[in-house]
Amino acid sequence: MSGLTLDPSAVIADLDELAAQSGGRFAGAKRLAWSPDWIAARAWLRGKLDAIGLPISQDVAGNLWATVQGETDDFLIVGSHIDAVPDGGWLDGVLGLMTALETVRQLAAMPEPPPVSVRFVDWADEEGARFTRSLVGSSACAGTLVPEDVRNLRDAGGVTLGDALANCGIDLDQATRATASLDGAIGYLELHIEQGPILLDGGRLASAVSGTFGVERHLITFTGQAAHAGSTPMHVRRDTLAAAAQATLAIRESSIARGGVATVGNLASTPGVITAVAGRTEMQLDQRHLDPTALAAMLEDALSACRTAADAFGCTMEVRRVFAATPTPFHPALVAAAREAVSAAGGDDREPVPSGPMHDATEIGRVVPTVMIFAQSDPPVSHAPIENSSDEALRVAISAYGRTVGWALANVDALRGDATQ
Ligand SMILES: [Zn+2]
Repeated sequence: MSGLTLDPSAVIADLDELAAQSGGRFAGAKRLAWSPDWIAARAWLRGKLDAIGLPISQDVAGNLWATVQGETDDFLIVGSHIDAVPDGGWLDGVLGLMTALETVRQLAAMPEPPPVSVRFVDWADEEGARFTRSLVGSSACAGTLVPEDVRNLRDAGGVTLGDALANCGIDLDQATRATASLDGAIGYLELHIEQGPILLDGGRLASAVSGTFGVERHLITFTGQAAHAGSTPMHVRRDTLAAAAQATLAIRESSIARGGVATVGNLASTPGVITAVAGRTEMQLDQRHLDPTALAAMLEDALSACRTAADAFGCTMEVRRVFAATPTPFHPALVAAAREAVSAAGGDDREPVPSGPMHDATEIGRVVPTVMIFAQSDPPVSHAPIENSSDEALRVAISAYGRTVGWALANVDALRGDATQ
């Protein structure tokens, strides 16, 4: 099979066509998972796949698949996600999805079938914007979705995730059977925008990605005593907000020292009025690192900082883990191939970067040889209508992706060996 040359202009034209449905590139994407807008976007996508003549199917977790039949039934996966956060950008998810679409379009037009089948996928509910649980479809395929954990998550209107899925014809209890969708998969390749400043700061148009950060999320509740702001002397207060604030700053220092990222995204205090000491404060903590040992150390630092602060302010504390994901290092040979492909496509061949955000590749990479390529974000902002990448960065990244798919199709035996381990 000869090399695969994608047409970046075709990808960008598809992106603009999709963006036009919500008012253009910078008008704010409207494709919230499981919503009528999302269903409409998927209908548009089905039309694109129909035009190529590919058979389409939806698995039990709501992921949309289309297959280019190869010489064998085992397959390479290309894809990303069409869902978006409310008022999202014009590239998040769909850059990778439209590039995967162009990939299967090119492969289907070739006189010879590829050596293995190539399956296009649109993962369902990557963002988790509505129910707070991201990577729903891909985690179902990877075998890490636990229906009981997510069934009663509610959106702002009180609708549960279980009911929203049922409205789209998906039975949450059956969704775990989506692991069958990966039977025979030998590799997964995903292109995405970086959504951060590392490539822009380094003057890099695109990069291979070495893996995605592991994540620890905890709710930490400090309990003290609510008391009158005027009559309670400072030395007798059991002030939970002061304790949480002290711990927050210590957590920040630890993440800097250990080379990870940590975010206290919210401190919610009660009674939450200007005239009372906060008797109870709940801290929402998110920590991430590519190295599991360093991530565990960051968590230990954080809990110890919270304990110290609770003691200092006469409070007690309680810890609840709400989410955890181990780091996903990507497949070394695919990462090396993607790095070479970026360089050959007009980028540089500097070290691959790790990803702070999780992606569908985080889940699929646990069970199938996987790699991602990032396109530079400029401005380095995502999940906002101003999200953008230069035309040059998009072209390099799209072309690098096509070259990496070409490498994978030329090296299916190497991938097969690793896929079955
Ligand atoms: Zn995304």
